[in-house]
Amino acid sequence: MADEKYDYVPMWEGLGMDVKAHDGLLAAVGQMYGDAFLTQKNRPASTAYLDGVANNLHSGRIRELVDGRNAGDPKKVIGTFCLYVPEEVITAAGAVEVGLCAGADWQPDEAERYVPRNTCPLIKGFMGFKLGRVCPYIESADLVVGENTCDGKKKAYEQFGKLKPTYVMDVPHVRTDETRQVWRNEVRRLARRIEQETGQQITAESLHAGIKLANDKRRALQRLYRVRSACPAPISGLDSLLTVQAAFMDDSARLTMAINAMAEECEQRVRDGVGVAPKGAKRILYTGTPMAVPNWKLFNIIEKSGAVVVGEECCTGSRYYKDLVSEEGTTVDQMLDDIADRYLNIQCAIFSPNKGREEDVIRMAREQHADGIIDCSLQFCTLYDMESFGMQEAAREAGIPFMHVSTDYGSDDDGQLKTRIQAFVEML
Ligand code: SF4
Ligand code: SF4
Repeated sequence: MADEKYDYVPMWEGLGMDVKAHDGLLAAVGQMYGDAFLTQKNRPASTAYLDGVANNLHSGRIRELVDGRNAGDPKKVIGTFCLYVPEEVITAAGAVEVGLCAGADWQPDEAERYVPRNTCPLIKGFMGFKLGRVCPYIESADLVVGENTCDGKKKAYEQFGKLKPTYVMDVPHVRTDETRQVWRNEVRRLARRIEQETGQQITAESLHAGIKLANDKRRALQRLYRVRSACPAPISGLDSLLTVQAAFMDDSARLTMAINAMAEECEQRVRDGVGVAPKGAKRILYTGTPMAVPNWKLFNIIEKSGAVVVGEECCTGSRYYKDLVSEEGTTVDQMLDDIADRYLNIQCAIFSPNKGREEDVIRMAREQHADGIIDCSLQFCTLYDMESFGMQEAAREAGIPFMHVSTDYGSDDDGQLKTRIQAFVEML
């Protein structure tokens, strides 16, 4: 995939990007990547794949998508912001899904012309990335699929839709027999919209292949998660987070092979007693809002404090891979229902009640032998801030130390976060 000699500037210009500003973004992200990832000691050798993914994120991978689309495979690029948009349906209609969530601030003043100042950084980030024309994934997407999840995103898509063709799915906020049916219909509505976009009909064969492709990726991620229950942990939380972040951008089949190679190396490290952190390092389970690329801030602070993150209950973690879609379906209708049912089980804070998330967090903390739980909400995210109270109660009842933090993408609170996290880790 990598081609250092290739001149990507004409491609970026062809996508309508602001190449000069984009150079500045790449330099800043490269610096962040070096500081967070390349300073880690004793990484598994197979994580070199992740360095390649990071290196090619805005270049080689975009070239694959653009060249592929010009040759008719994939037929279209579909951008998404949320875990509720089923990638199986998109793949089955001959398109490819890419994640568009932004993990960095960009032109916040411009973004505030479209969304209020006190909007969560994730939303402000994707508005800023679009307005600044610095994200090749947004610019190469033929259609963006949003969703009525939190109020901020729901209303932001009305604004975003003025800048880019945007289709919005209606996600229920309670789980009943009636809303299950509504959601099943909604998945069918999406299937029709993507078919219309690509001009390719979804067949039982293509949908089954789409399910299998996504399941294989999720199975590989489950395998990597399981190996992290060992002490010492064979791979860092930072590398594990980046692996799931890559799942929203990289080629699925290629990434699946790479994750299995990482899992295999980690299994051997466990047999050999080799860890990424020393044996006594405190083990942290992360839960909370998603961490989109390049938001590595909190994991970097936790792991540079001498602890190791051994699991992530979030959309860039277990919620992405813990459930599979049944592979037993034989008709398109049956498979679409199976897909809808699998996605309705994602434990996002938009649901009420959402006890399943607390249960998942406690189960994962026990499975991974976590010494403590760190729960994080992005600033101005009311949903995850609200859920932190119930989560704290659940952790207390389970006898697991707990800390809640709220942060943004800036570095202003780095010092304060470091102090709090170091104190928490020492107390464990
Ligand atoms: S936290 Fe909820 S709204 Fe955000 S990406 Fe995940 S499922 Fe979607
Ligand atoms: S972090 Fe919270 S406010 Fe921001 S998009 Fe996700 S659910 Fe909405």
